[in-house]
Amino acid sequence: MAATILVVEDESSIQELLKLSLKQAGHAVWQALNADEASNLVRKELPDLILLDWMLPGKNGIEFAQQLRNDKRTRDIPIIMLTARTEESDKITGLEIGADDYITKPFSPREVVARIKAVLRRRAPQTTEDSIEIEGLKLDPTSYRVFGNEMELELGPTEFRLLHFLMSHQERVYSRTQLLDRVWGDHIVVEERTVDVHIRRLRLALERTGHDHLIQTVRGAGYRFSAT
Ligand code: CA
Repeated sequence: MAATILVVEDESSIQELLKLSLKQAGHAVWQALNADEASNLVRKELPDLILLDWMLPGKNGIEFAQQLRNDKRTRDIPIIMLTARTEESDKITGLEIGADDYITKPFSPREVVARIKAVLRRRAPQTTEDSIEIEGLKLDPTSYRVFGNEMELELGPTEFRLLHFLMSHQERVYSRTQLLDRVWGDHIVVEERTVDVHIRRLRLALERTGHDHLIQTVRGAGYRFSAT
């Protein structure tokens, strides 16, 4: 399960420990020592998950989490709070602002990796290796293959990632900008119409087994994967 994890933590020993264990677990790691550094990274590209320390110099973790939740572009990024606080009321505050989980220091790296896995499985299934099947359309991330009614379909790498993302986020509309962020990982460099080009290619590939109707155009809004 490979995901991009942004670690926001001002203590360098903890940063290094997390970096090492997350890399060992197969993740890509971005590091930020404070909320401003983290903001700059997130502005360029969205991570799959943020490990966020509560006590940071400058803007604290709770304020930064709130900022992320209030921005349409970043509000869906899963957040796990790290904290030295053990008070139950603090935990509630952390979860109220929309953190997905909460880890109290000192923690074992193994615990962190396990919690990340659980949150990703729930919130970012496209980063997992679980295969998905909807109405006879089956995508297997492990073998990197797609089948329509048992027949293998030929997809380019971008179409594969796009389909994986859409299949793991059914019934939700994504704008072109959101898709660029989540599938291409860059909303600045790539033009929006690139999305249309790849959606067209994807539909063409799915046409062979009649699954192209699952990718719906929502006028003025974007695209949606829907089996209904
Ligand atoms: Ca700290």
